[in-house]
Amino acid sequence: MIQLKESVRNLIPYRVNDIPYRIKLDANEGKNYLLTEQINLEKDFQPNIYPDSDAKELRRKMAEYYECLLDNVIVGNGSSELINLVINAYCEKGEKVLSFTPSFSMYEIYCNLCSAKYVTVPCNSDFTQNIDNLILKANEINPKIVIICTPNNPTGYVTDKKDIIKMLDKMTKSIVIVDEAYIDFGGESSVDLIKKYDNLIVMRTLSKAFGLAALRVGCLIANEKLINMLWKVKVPYNVNSVSQYIAVKAFSKIGLVKQYVKETAERREKLSQELKALGFTIYPSGSNFLFVYSKIDNLFENLAAKGILIRKFSKNLNKYYRITVGTKEENQLLINTLKELIR
Ligand code: PMP
Repeated sequence: MIQLKESVRNLIPYRVNDIPYRIKLDANEGKNYLLTEQINLEKDFQPNIYPDSDAKELRRKMAEYYECLLDNVIVGNGSSELINLVINAYCEKGEKVLSFTPSFSMYEIYCNLCSAKYVTVPCNSDFTQNIDNLILKANEINPKIVIICTPNNPTGYVTDKKDIIKMLDKMTKSIVIVDEAYIDFGGESSVDLIKKYDNLIVMRTLSKAFGLAALRVGCLIANEKLINMLWKVKVPYNVNSVSQYIAVKAFSKIGLVKQYVKETAERREKLSQELKALGFTIYPSGSNFLFVYSKIDNLFENLAAKGILIRKFSKNLNKYYRITVGTKEENQLLINTLKELIR
C-alpha cells in the first residue's frame, strides 16, 4: 500500500458523530430560521455552467454587512477552506503556527497537512487567555502565523479588542488570523483593523449565527494587498452556485439574524443559570455554546443514550463538555434529562 506523506500518516480522522439523536447540541450549528421558505432557484439558473468563481454578488453583500470593501473579501467553502488555504499558502515545511490551547482542533490538522508545526500556549486554569504569554512565545519562536479564535471554541472566552491590538502591534512579522466564527454572538469584531494592519486576516462564517452550515459559506477579510496575494492560491469555483444564491438572499434578512443572536444570548444565560443550579461549573461564554465541567460520570454517554448529543473532549479535558445553546424546548429537555440522571 502506498503510504500517505509522513506529516499526515498518524492523524486521527476527523469523523463526525453518527449517533442517532433527538436533539443535537454538539456542533454549535445555528437553528434554521432564515431558510424557512421553499428555495426557488431563478428561472435562468444554469446547472451546467460553473459558479461565479469570484462570488461577486455575495462578496458585495458581505462587504456591506462586515463593513469593508468588496476587494477586502474572499469567499470560501466554509471558513474551514480558507483557514486551510492561508496556512498552506504561507507555511513552508517546519514553519510555525502559534495559538492558544484549547482552541479549534482543525488548526492543528491544517498545519499537519502542509507539514507546518503547530505550537500552543496554554490558556489559564480558568480558560481565560493571557495575551502577553502568546506575545512572549511569539518572540521566542517567530511563528509565520498566529491564530486567535474569539469567542474561542471550545471555551467561549472573548478576547478583548485591546489585546488583539496589542498583539498586532507586537507581531508585525507574522500573519495574524482572528477567527470570528462566533463573533456575532458576542465580542467586538476586528474587521476595521485591516485598514491599519496589513498582516491581519479576519475569518467569518455563515455556519453559526446565520444557521446556514449546510451551505458551506465563509469568508476571509483582509487588506487589499494581502487579498491580492491570496487570489493566487484560491481554488477556482470553490463555492457552488446554489450556496452563493441562497447566501446572497440571507443577507437581505439581517434583521432576523440580529434578533436570533439576541435571543440565543438570552437562552444561553438562562441555560447557564439552570446548569449551575445542577452543580455544573460554567465558564463565561460570548458564543452560542457553553463550556462546562460536570462531575457526573459518563455524562456524554448517558445523554446520548437519551438522544441528546453534546461535545466531549479527549482525556486532557476529561469531564469538560461543550453544549450548544438549543431552542427553549431543547434546553428544557436537556435540563429535565439531567435532573433525571442526577436523581
Ligand atoms: N472556526 C471555528 C472556531 C469553528 O468552530 C468552525 C466550525 N466549527 C469553523 C471555523 C469552520 O466553520 P465553517 O467551515 O463551517 O465556516
